[in-house]
Amino acid sequence: MGADSARAAEDRGDVAARLRAVFALQKQAFAEEPYPSQATRAAWLDALERAVETNEERIVEAISADFDGRARAETLIGEVLTTLGAIRHARRRLARWMRPRRVATPLHMLPGRSRIVPQPLGVVGIIAPWNYPLQLALSPAAAALAAGDRVMIKPSEITPRTSALMKEILGREFDERVLAVAVGGVETGAAFAEIPFDHLLFTGSTAVGRRIAEAAAKNLTPTTLELGGKSPAIIDESADLAAAARAIAHGKLFNAGQTCVAPDYVLAPRGRLDATVEAVAEAARALYPEIDTTPDYTAVVSDRHFARLKEMVEEARAAGARIVEVGSANALHPRRKLPFTIVVEPPETIRLMKEEIFGPVLPVLAVENADDAIARVNAGERPLALYWFGRDAETRDKALKRTVAGGVTVNGTLWHVAQENLPFGGVGASGQGAYHGEAGFETFSHMKPVFQASRLSSGGMLHPPYTDKTARIINFVKKVI
Ligand code: NAD
Repeated sequence: MGADSARAAEDRGDVAARLRAVFALQKQAFAEEPYPSQATRAAWLDALERAVETNEERIVEAISADFDGRARAETLIGEVLTTLGAIRHARRRLARWMRPRRVATPLHMLPGRSRIVPQPLGVVGIIAPWNYPLQLALSPAAAALAAGDRVMIKPSEITPRTSALMKEILGREFDERVLAVAVGGVETGAAFAEIPFDHLLFTGSTAVGRRIAEAAAKNLTPTTLELGGKSPAIIDESADLAAAARAIAHGKLFNAGQTCVAPDYVLAPRGRLDATVEAVAEAARALYPEIDTTPDYTAVVSDRHFARLKEMVEEARAAGARIVEVGSANALHPRRKLPFTIVVEPPETIRLMKEEIFGPVLPVLAVENADDAIARVNAGERPLALYWFGRDAETRDKALKRTVAGGVTVNGTLWHVAQENLPFGGVGASGQGAYHGEAGFETFSHMKPVFQASRLSSGGMLHPPYTDKTARIINFVKKVI
């Protein structure tokens, strides 16, 4: 083994050892306080809120520096508002969520009582991606703290300034026995995924999600996997095209398309294909009148991601697809921004149609009818989001019933995700499990069934020795269950 690789192995060992030491501290702290009071949890949520509220400007600056240009309003909406929303929603409902849920007790078990009692799980791990680096680390953390758990966060190495800032501001507010941030790259991520957490929430790509699930399976650590995929936008014959185009352009261009629930591609009626392309381009021009110069239009996060997107567009061009650009490559490329690129009817075989795009590039495909649109969606993996535009309730219900997607917005994009009362999560290749609001609280709790038998409970009548009386009771129970 050369000196370099020996050092790398040692570093790897160090990383793993450091992570395990923090985990051991948190496990110990949990053992000492396995059921934090409502007041303690509320104080944790207050600390999380303070970390975000008092550092809003630094958060905006750090993320913009990491992206080389992220629109200020996008950070305020997509990181600050969403995270504060999650924290406050949880704090307001803490008492209700912590309360045991009473459930009915079957006749033959009466007069016992049955309840579901939420219990903290212990130590929760959170692995976060770069695209909404603050929100996707802290909003699951808020749910875990509300559930009474300890939290370790592994943010992305692609947004290093934001990760370092999170470590600093959370380090100031939290004892590491309650919440700790482990900054580092793939090595740290791999070591992190091997920790025997009581629950592990991963947000990121489907490919890495698979590895996380494998690592967690070795410890039987339950996982919530928030993954990606190709989310379709279906435009029905009955749709208001201009309104649909505005929502699609907004959903695609927010954060320059680097959003897990961004509409990935559009399915439009063949007779309205050209009108759709024109309407979406027009909507983009209205959203970003000075697209070549405005700071409202966000950059692509890294040179590697930028090169990938350019290659995908070039492949589409070489394949003969018609391309409509909003913005000029000459003006935008030097700032690692891409023109908004609409690709009309690309062949199914190119990367643009096989991989999640994750950038401001929008394939628009013609479909023959509503059934064809459903068949196209069902030919691919189950998407994280599905958008349906139109006024015809029957066609809408058919599309929603016959496709399986993580979540849906009808006549809009993105907004189902920004609501704490709706659970958020994928299905199939786009993920498993869910969080946000009460769904998050339940994900990070053990929802423990508790039956309290009464002295008078009839269950004892089913004990041996088995007699004719037992047979009569079995017959009776058979009728009442
Ligand atoms: P990614 O999978 O490359 O990385 C996510 C995290 O995993 C990072 O912290 C990274 O350091 C870590 N990681 C990478 N390799 C690892 C390994 N072998 N072991 C352990 N950890 C490892 O994803 P990304 O590029 O940061 O994010 C983009 C992807 O995330 C897209 O597919 C997008 O759709 C998806 N996403 C999903 C959601 C959602 O809520 N469902 C939200 C945002 C992004």
